[in-house]
Amino acid sequence: MSRAALETPMMRQYLAIKAEHPDCLLFYRMGDFYELFLADAELAAPLLEIALTTRDRGKPDAVPMCGVPVHSAGPHIRRLAELGHRVAVCEQVEDARAAAGRRLVRREVIEVVTPGLVGDPEGVDAAREILIAALAPGPEAIGLALLDATTGDFRATAVPRAAADASLPRALATELERAQPRELLLAEGPGDALAEAFARLLPGAARTRVPAAPERPPAAARVEGLGAHPSEPAEQAAALLVAYLARHQPFALAQVVRLRRYSLGDAMLLDRATRAHLELFENSEDGGRRGTLIERLDRTATALGARLLARWVAYPLLDPEAIAARQDAVAWLAQRDRPRARLVEALRPVRDLERLLARAARPAAAPRDLAQLRASLEALPGVASALDGPDDASLPSLAAERPAALPRPAPVPEAAELLRQALVDEPPVLLRGSRGASETGYIRPGWHAELDGLREAAGKGREWIAGLEARERERSGIPSLRVRFHPVHGYGLEVTKANLARVPAHFERKQTLANAERFTTPELREMESRVLGATERAAALEREIFEGLRRSALESAAPMRAAARAVAELDALASLAQVAREAGWVRPLVDTSAELRITAGRHPVVEELLRRSGGSFVPNDSELSPRDVQLLILTGPNMSGKSTYLRQVALIALLAQIGSCVPAESARVGIVDRIFTRVGASDRLARGESTFMVEMRETAEILACASARSLVILDEIGRGTSTFDGLSIAWAVAEHLHDTPGLSPRTLFATHYHELSDLARARPRVGNAHFAAREWGEEILFLRQLVPGGASRSYGIQVARLAGLPGVVVERAREILSNLESGELDERGRPRLALPAAPGSAAGAESGGRAPAEGSLRSIPETPARADARPAADRPPRPAAAGPVAQLGLFGSTPPDPREAEVLQRLRSLDPSRLTPLEALNLLAQLRSCLEGEPQA
Ligand code: ADP
Ligand code: MG
Repeated sequence: MSRAALETPMMRQYLAIKAEHPDCLLFYRMGDFYELFLADAELAAPLLEIALTTRDRGKPDAVPMCGVPVHSAGPHIRRLAELGHRVAVCEQVEDARAAAGRRLVRREVIEVVTPGLVGDPEGVDAAREILIAALAPGPEAIGLALLDATTGDFRATAVPRAAADASLPRALATELERAQPRELLLAEGPGDALAEAFARLLPGAARTRVPAAPERPPAAARVEGLGAHPSEPAEQAAALLVAYLARHQPFALAQVVRLRRYSLGDAMLLDRATRAHLELFENSEDGGRRGTLIERLDRTATALGARLLARWVAYPLLDPEAIAARQDAVAWLAQRDRPRARLVEALRPVRDLERLLARAARPAAAPRDLAQLRASLEALPGVASALDGPDDASLPSLAAERPAALPRPAPVPEAAELLRQALVDEPPVLLRGSRGASETGYIRPGWHAELDGLREAAGKGREWIAGLEARERERSGIPSLRVRFHPVHGYGLEVTKANLARVPAHFERKQTLANAERFTTPELREMESRVLGATERAAALEREIFEGLRRSALESAAPMRAAARAVAELDALASLAQVAREAGWVRPLVDTSAELRITAGRHPVVEELLRRSGGSFVPNDSELSPRDVQLLILTGPNMSGKSTYLRQVALIALLAQIGSCVPAESARVGIVDRIFTRVGASDRLARGESTFMVEMRETAEILACASARSLVILDEIGRGTSTFDGLSIAWAVAEHLHDTPGLSPRTLFATHYHELSDLARARPRVGNAHFAAREWGEEILFLRQLVPGGASRSYGIQVARLAGLPGVVVERAREILSNLESGELDERGRPRLALPAAPGSAAGAESGGRAPAEGSLRSIPETPARADARPAADRPPRPAAAGPVAQLGLFGSTPPDPREAEVLQRLRSLDPSRLTPLEALNLLAQLRSCLEGEPQA
């Protein structure tokens, strides 16, 4: 493009800088604005919804441009980064006046903001980490490093892989999904398979190829734990991140002080499906926080605490001792209302210390940032002592030992004191690097003698000028004479046109306005230059003092970070204690057994939602154990509470392992290494996968990865295909989970295939339970109560009727159902009869489920035959509304008739092609008499 407009010195400077950052949108500082030009402007203007204009408007070669004010640039830059763009922020690096008239102001790119390195953390979600990841494939393992540059949190691990396998190991994929990095770094060179796998995994995240990491980290980076083993994949990944940060945001390196090694085996693995199905962080409705576990648990007072609590929920512990330590702290706090309230009050003024440190390290740091840091530091002593005071009087005097897991933050008094003495109470908001009245006045009077002297000189001069008005009015006899100030022209004595004739001789004309003239005098000129000189020197000196303060404060970054960590823990623990106390949750026993026993458990979120709307949640028990019922088949009508129950059990196990109390009367949780869920209909259609495919993939994942310590939650698997397909798959999956040696995870299996209840007859560790419902005239009444034994019907048609399907359709559906039921049985040859009946395990009647508390349900009679096995005409007439118990004869199952079983057995074993007609006739007669004879069982 050879436009004359591009040949100006400024545009040449712009183009030279842009050439160094071709992959970035260049934010070019001009006074109080950042300007974008040419293609950058055309790209950014619509994304930022700002006007696209032109430089030298109207000329044929005008340059497209758009701009944002410096003081509000943050959100715009963040927006572009979130959309996957990179932004190079180019500042004026010398004083505009120093360059005035001479040449162009020098400009440099001081920061590159990328999707994973957001730069200024102001305005980002305080409760979440903002991670950038790097992968480094080694021969045996792939290194993963994760960095949150806004907090300095830096961690790395290595995940083994099969040597020949170029793809992402499953555990690594799970970890990446959990971390949700916004950007992934991969060294240039091979690794396309990894990049592609990552793109499929997190399609919204940016992928960046970077030069291979240098052997030695950049000099500015002094990261503890980095540099000792440069050939390890974990370190290589970490080194990529450090080099990238050094290149793009060198000032932020000071925040990255320690590399933490971790192993995926340290915490419960929660895959994407499980996190989504259990609605830990995002609800399934709109991806928001409403109705999620984290929303239920988060009563934190600080951003630090909120972030740590989210981390705890994402990484439940596996070590019973570590869990018990957290439980001790939560229980201690839950029992002490007054100290806990004092703690929360003390925590409130603590701002986001970690991210404030990151802000303070930025070149654009403002006095406000240090003031917030100071407020947080000043709050630390109160936090440290909040728990020392008296307990509630009503408490039995426990041995009030403070548990080890309740940290005591160590205040950082020197830094707090320094900032207190040097900074005014409420510093003004600063425009980044811009000069104006608002920029000065943040250093406290009395802190710096020279500054005080300059301020005094300026003040005296201003006073003298203020007095000048009265003096000159008197001398000249012009009553309307005024002293005015103009930012460019300076001070002037203003006289209206009407009074010009009376202007004294020593006035010198300076500026002409519409209705007045401004004048100066030699005296005023002298004083003006003294005032302006002093003001200017004071401003420069303040900036210098501020830089010194910033450096001193950052020297205490390590103790501040330690204090921040302690605050975060106290806050997260207090939050768990608060919830437990208010909702009446109990401390579970967490041990290395493989038990999962819950008395009167509730769903932590549904319970709360119901409470708020005036309803009440019906508690239910759970008992899973490898010795007893390892796999519980859960049947029952739609809407009866199966899915809620499944999630409730999983959430209680998860809560127990983050150290929280749980919604139950009592609970024992043997450590769960992974929770697997296959719940409800998944919606990944956007990725071109059918729901059924997703369902089967998730199921395959469970079968491949579950261990004897896992908790498996299966809700309605096999629903996405035809009934027989679905039932067969569900059946085979359940068998596999029960039969595979060394697998046998604790499993809850909800299904609308009530035929699956029959599995309990043949499998010793399979139990049945269902959610009770009553038919009440034409209605169904859900009791939300888990009762032993399988359900016999799914009540789909009743639910359809309740939902308002027209009466004729409902009636016709009933007819079709009864036809199907009779037909299906003949055609199928009643497969359940073919099962070898395991004596003593019939229907798993005593297995799962809590016996109902009231007597009424205990008296549910077992029907002599399965309701659905009878033709419709044989069904008992629907009872009148009055008989609450008599009408309940629809549940439970009965062992098959052994005579029928024998007949079927014989029929199956014979080969008709080898029978003579006579033999066939004889056999028929035998079978017939067998059916009529005495049962042999
Ligand atoms: P299902 O999976 O059997 O179709 P759901 O678990 O989806 O049933 O539950 C249906 C409705 O019943 C939900 O809206 C839920 O709020 C309510 N519910 C479930 N369990 C309980 C319970 N134990 N107490 C009270 N209400 C419950
Ligand atoms: Mg359900």
